[in-house]
Amino acid sequence: MSKPFTCDVVVVGAGMVGAACTLYAARAGLDVALVDRGPVAGGTTGAGEGNLLVSDKEPGPELDLALLSGRLWVDLAEATELASAIEYEAKGGVVVAATPEGLTALETFAAGQRAAGVAAVPVAADRLHDLEPQLAPGLAGAVHYPQDAQVMPALAAAHLVRASGARLLTGRTVTEVLRTADGSARGVRTDRGEIHAPAVVNAAGTWGSAVAALAGVSLPVLPRRGFVLVTEPLPRLVRHKVYAADYVADVASDSAALQTSPVVEGTAAGPILIGASRERVGFDRSFSLPALRELAAGATRLFPFLSGVRALRTYLGFRPYMPDHLPAIGPDPRVPGLFHACGHEGAGIGLATGTGHLLAQILTGRTPDLDLAPFRPDRFPQEAV
Ligand SMILES: Cc1cc2nc3c(=O)[nH]c(=O)nc-3n(C[C@H](O)[C@H](O)[C@H](O)COP(=O)(O)OP(=O)(O)OC[C@H]3O[C@@H](n4cnc5c(N)ncnc54)[C@H](O)[C@@H]3O)c2cc1C
Repeated sequence: MSKPFTCDVVVVGAGMVGAACTLYAARAGLDVALVDRGPVAGGTTGAGEGNLLVSDKEPGPELDLALLSGRLWVDLAEATELASAIEYEAKGGVVVAATPEGLTALETFAAGQRAAGVAAVPVAADRLHDLEPQLAPGLAGAVHYPQDAQVMPALAAAHLVRASGARLLTGRTVTEVLRTADGSARGVRTDRGEIHAPAVVNAAGTWGSAVAALAGVSLPVLPRRGFVLVTEPLPRLVRHKVYAADYVADVASDSAALQTSPVVEGTAAGPILIGASRERVGFDRSFSLPALRELAAGATRLFPFLSGVRALRTYLGFRPYMPDHLPAIGPDPRVPGLFHACGHEGAGIGLATGTGHLLAQILTGRTPDLDLAPFRPDRFPQEAV
């Protein structure tokens, strides 16, 4: 059991979001300790893809957070050597429509995004192959989103933690949020000793509800399972992140049933990553042949050459799903000193930088760059914990 120590902020969860909170809080001058029961990026961060997307977000608070986050990712990537270390690639996204009706809906969606500050460039059917030569013939058209980018999530989390200079405590499970007599948070108890701090940040991703419960409050974060299919390494045949327009509807859906829509992207290392499936089946880690079959079939419809490519492996993760598809970011009025930064569902890599930046502003008493009201942690009915 280690001796208790004191710092300004203890961040629970060393995934992408906790790493970004740690970096920006440390840059704001706070003494931060980052604690995780496993290694850095051992949760969902190590089990997803690394797209930093504006293309799939409708105008509103999540898009505003994505735009802020995208600018911060660019700043980070421009820092010496970080871009290559985290495999930052400003590759852009291409959203394709198979039918004229689908294209009309996609262009209407893109017009709304443009009004909100997104670069969204219509691509006619006869120019599509200039952008992506291997795409299937006969598609109705597309929209090109140059602001979409990509990182390698586990590397990004690790390098942000390193850049923060904060104390990193891995292999320690938080078992209790310590409280003062008036109920305020005053640190955490772990299975290897206490950490005392006037601010506790819940960055526990899909396990955010369990950490909130350790402080006596409810937060409805649920797992939303997703599989990724990984091909053998190939030369760069897919240049952008390419996905079908119906992906946006799947992301926004509340259905618990299996949904798949093709999402295909090349990586710096060569393998092509194929997603995206979504289903709410708790923390069930079983392999699902139906889900994988649908992913392969959808990707092959977009890129016929994939029918001759071997899939080497698959992996799965649990997106931190909240019922209104928005994360919880900010102070918890029910427990002074408790802050949340979790529930980013399928966008936590992209949204991590903005989340960390906003949280650091709150922690240091500044006015956040975005209105945090839509992200209030207490916006859901309080359940028994
Ligand atoms: C298949 C798939 C594809 C995805 N693709 C993308 C994508 O392209 N772009 C994107 O932006 N997002 C994507 N996501 C979503 C993204 O991966 C998540 O939103 C993000 O990783 C969440 O990060 P986090 O830091 O909040 O949580 P996590 O990475 O899960 O980190 C939480 C950490 O908290 C720790 N923890 C929990 N409880 C405790 C405790 N009691 N004590 C100590 N530590 C604790 C865990 O060990 C874990 O390390 C994808 C997800 C999946 C599953």
